[in-house]
Amino acid sequence: MRKITMVGAGNVGATAIQQIAQRELCEELVMIDVVDGLPQGKGLDMWESAPLLGSDTQVQGSNQMEAMKDSNVVIITAGLARKPGMSRSDLLDKNAEIVRKIVEDIVRYAPGAIIILVTNPLDVITYLSYKISGFDRSRVFGMAGVLDSARLRSFVAMELGVSVKDTQALVLGGHGDSMVPLPRYTTVAGIPITELMDNGTIEKLVNRTRKAGGEIVGYLKTGSAFYSPGASVADMVESVVKNKRRVMPCAAILDGEYGLKDICAGVPVVLGQKGMEKIVEISLEPAEMKALRDSAEEVKNDIERLKL
Ligand code: NAD
Repeated sequence: MRKITMVGAGNVGATAIQQIAQRELCEELVMIDVVDGLPQGKGLDMWESAPLLGSDTQVQGSNQMEAMKDSNVVIITAGLARKPGMSRSDLLDKNAEIVRKIVEDIVRYAPGAIIILVTNPLDVITYLSYKISGFDRSRVFGMAGVLDSARLRSFVAMELGVSVKDTQALVLGGHGDSMVPLPRYTTVAGIPITELMDNGTIEKLVNRTRKAGGEIVGYLKTGSAFYSPGASVADMVESVVKNKRRVMPCAAILDGEYGLKDICAGVPVVLGQKGMEKIVEISLEPAEMKALRDSAEEVKNDIERLKL
């Protein structure tokens, strides 16, 4: 693909962009922020690391939204990060206002783009962006499940003393306390963890995954996680740009899948050059299905607050 733009040059945006640059995923890479000098300074710093990292992708920093013109992919990390004691829903009103304006600019300057949302609260922000853009749902989706699954994978590897490479995990539902980790579909070299750990241990890892964002906020105090979110974004972008068609859990607009309609929820999707090319429907047990529906219900409440 020719051009990728990141809107938001904060911790997550800059971390993702550096990985995208290092993987040489596009010809033109742009980073936009409202803070004067921030995207320019970080972009230049990254370019000066390029000779060491062996990448020829230069990051153009800008404070002008027009800089995204004709981008093939636009990622949005702009907004406020969660502070200690703040829930993702507390962020809603402020971040909805910021993202609404950015999406209007995407429609104006990059109407053919695929939009990847990162800003929290992720599911409702993704739904809002879908509505404001008027784009097909295949071109508007959010990053959450890739990160939540990576977190569960890292905890499984730590618990069993095995390589993270051999772990796989599936976390569905909303990005927050109501996420739905699926131990049955969480494996080590294809072996379900239900064969490798007792229920108490699985429950402990699942709970840690659910609270993993808050655990990092608790340490950092003035911000939230960005290394793992940045890497998650870069993996999704790579699957789109290289048309890898990886199966990744993403926040997707559902149209009847999993019995849910006109709502955004985390489900496994195939990511390729057209964006979200397919939603993969897996069979869920009644309790898992209930957890997914409850999670979607929470998102619905937030959407109603926004009066879209
Ligand atoms: P950050 O504060 O480091 O960066 C946010 C950046 O957005 C700042 O540089 C700010 O100047 C910029 N910004 C604000 N308004 C803007 C606008 N209108 N246009 C352009 N830029 C604007 O925060 P962060 O740690 O990078 O987190 C960014 C967002 O991502 C937060 O909402 C956070 O909660 C969310 N997040 C989501 C996930 C996920 O899994 N979906 C994971 C981590 C963080």
